[in-house]
Amino acid sequence: MTTDPAPPLVFLVGAGPGNPGLMTVRGAEVLSRADLVLYDQLVPERLLDLAPAHAVRMCVRDLPGNHPDKYPHIHRTLIETASAGKTVVRLKGGDPLIFGRGGEEAEALRAAGLAYEIVPGVTAALAAGAFLEIPLTHRMHSSAIALVTGHELPNKPGNKLDWKAIAAFPGTLAIYMGIARMPVIAAELLKYGKPADTPAAIVERASTGDQRSAYATLGTLEEVRRQAGLEAPGLIIIGEAVAQRPEHPWFEGRPLFGQRVLVTRPAHQAGGMVRKLEHLGAVVSRLPAVEIRDVDNFASVDRALGQLRHGEWDWLVFTSANGVHALLRRLDTIGRDLRDLGGVKLAAIGPKTAESLREYRLRADVVPDTTFSSEGLAGALKPHVAGQRVLLARANRGRELLRTELAKVATVEQVTVYDQVDVTAPEGAVLDALRRGEIRFVTLPSSSIAKGVLAAFDETINGRVERGEIKLIVISPETGKAVRALGYPVAAEATTFTEDGLIEAVLALARQK
Ligand code: SAH
Repeated sequence: MTTDPAPPLVFLVGAGPGNPGLMTVRGAEVLSRADLVLYDQLVPERLLDLAPAHAVRMCVRDLPGNHPDKYPHIHRTLIETASAGKTVVRLKGGDPLIFGRGGEEAEALRAAGLAYEIVPGVTAALAAGAFLEIPLTHRMHSSAIALVTGHELPNKPGNKLDWKAIAAFPGTLAIYMGIARMPVIAAELLKYGKPADTPAAIVERASTGDQRSAYATLGTLEEVRRQAGLEAPGLIIIGEAVAQRPEHPWFEGRPLFGQRVLVTRPAHQAGGMVRKLEHLGAVVSRLPAVEIRDVDNFASVDRALGQLRHGEWDWLVFTSANGVHALLRRLDTIGRDLRDLGGVKLAAIGPKTAESLREYRLRADVVPDTTFSSEGLAGALKPHVAGQRVLLARANRGRELLRTELAKVATVEQVTVYDQVDVTAPEGAVLDALRRGEIRFVTLPSSSIAKGVLAAFDETINGRVERGEIKLIVISPETGKAVRALGYPVAAEATTFTEDGLIEAVLALARQK
């Protein structure tokens, strides 16, 4: 930053149209050093994960002094925070300067003498083009595109849209904020001679698994919208280009398109699964049921590390990626390194845990072939450990099976290297979505997570599970057993006990319908 004469403290960043993958790399970069993220309501929640843990995340809706048509409180927050030397990211839907008041916010910053940077974003019209496969410009059918607001402020002096000119515009019209006024807009265009049979499209939530679209002509737009039940906010696209789209746009053919899936992994570990599901077209909600924390007291971990260094253990066994990271982080923290593990053999319960070891350039000597569970690991290890000394690195809670099985042939001790703690106040909005039947698949990646999630369910949600409207999908028979023991039906069990196996099980269920 020393090469930068006046490093800006405020960034007006376009978050893109709703699909979290569509924010720019620059946007992600500045977000990763924000102290405050001030975001619009339509911004995808998952982007907030890119901000550092300490950052304050605030939706403009929740700012004090909020008023639907007045924005000075936003300007004030930006200015006060930046003046205190903090980095502020103002995250706005789509592009900040397209119907986003980004210009007004920049003006307020200029007036306050504050440096800022503007990071563009994918605006809704461009996302609709890509995700509905409407060629917004087309050599034969459209040589121009106009971005138009359907919500012109009636009191804007002398600045009314010229609908006559818009009707005559020789290209594609993308009308933002126009759904509520569609009858008026269509009437204006027809009045000024735009043909009633001009192809038109309406789309809600373009670029997300929630995307819904309908196709009509200028003359039938409102009727078609009502039939399809599309509501604001949405985008209207009018022009010959609309007719050039294929019948089945690529995105809507994704295998989980429109399916609502709940991911219950701990917040910091949910990202990979969320991305994979979104890529398959799903709408993903998150309900972290447990959190991973450091142990309160490292004395026994440090003692175990000392014993490993002195060759007192033949085997070190990991039953989760969390365990690998916790133990190796501690090794580093106390000023030691991997050479301390030089003499010990390593075992991992499954591919994910083995992969975590690989991040430290360590190879597991034993990983079960197909059954990634305590049973599988016990079976795979037993032939190797007879008469040897085995240390299990594990969480504060979990099953005893591995220890009791191995203890039949070896000397076994366990050391708790991290704590799993129930999340005390689960996300109310997600529980509401479950109550309303808006989430169909609930993925349960371990018994302890399943217990936490099911404890948060109430009668309404339980009723939906019983009627099969909400389907519980478990990672393994063991987790299935835990779920059934709590009185819940299991809709599907993964056949490979991994995250990918869990996703496969969701896919298989979705295909059935
Ligand atoms: N700055 C934003 C637009 C803000 S105005 C951008 O560049 O996209 C809000 C309007 O944008 C909505 O009323 C709707 O018309 C449109 N919009 C935003 N995201 C959309 C999406 N994913 N699908 C369809 N329309 C969207």
